[in-house]
Amino acid sequence: MDMTVRCRCGQVRGAARTERAYTRATCYCRDCRAYARFLGGSDLLDAHGGTDVVPIAPTGLRLIAGLEALACVSLGPRGLLRWYAACCRAPIANTPRQAQTPYVGLFGAAFDAPSAAMDESFGPRGTLVIHAGSATGEVAPTRWRFVIGGLRIVTGMTAARLRGEPPAPFFDAAGRPIRHVRELTRAERDALGDAPAAH
Ligand SMILES: [Zn+2]
Ligand SMILES: [Zn+2]
Repeated sequence: MDMTVRCRCGQVRGAARTERAYTRATCYCRDCRAYARFLGGSDLLDAHGGTDVVPIAPTGLRLIAGLEALACVSLGPRGLLRWYAACCRAPIANTPRQAQTPYVGLFGAAFDAPSAAMDESFGPRGTLVIHAGSATGEVAPTRWRFVIGGLRIVTGMTAARLRGEPPAPFFDAAGRPIRHVRELTRAERDALGDAPAAH
């Protein structure tokens, strides 16, 4: 089934194939919170500073309109590529730096779907909890959920590799990002707060 993905203002539009989703995750890492502040949207975070993400195979996402509004930032030299809509500063997805790694972390906020439909298609928020130790409040991930969620991602990525899928639509055929990657300086990253514990 296809679900609509879009930025806040509707310029950037795409479709996600629900069968290609690996699981549903909440990430409590400091970088994701800093990124929410970079975009200016504290409404992107849950009560404990977590971000709702749907990890999906690269072919699970098609971008249909508004590609010219896409922008990419990275919070550091080894950070994820964070793709957002420059028109309204809405997050779309995070990807690894390597195009051949079959992983796209679609933002829950980028889906144009009621939460019941999200739950039905991908499981409830926080099915997999990542970086619980960096949460701003008490979150209690259970070990088995972490193992099962992690396994779903690993098996999903393995299946995508076996299918020989092309890279996500954020990369060209040669595997290069389709946008200049703005890499934040250390000072810019630190100014966003939630600085990583160890530099
Ligand atoms: Zn927009
Ligand atoms: Zn994170």
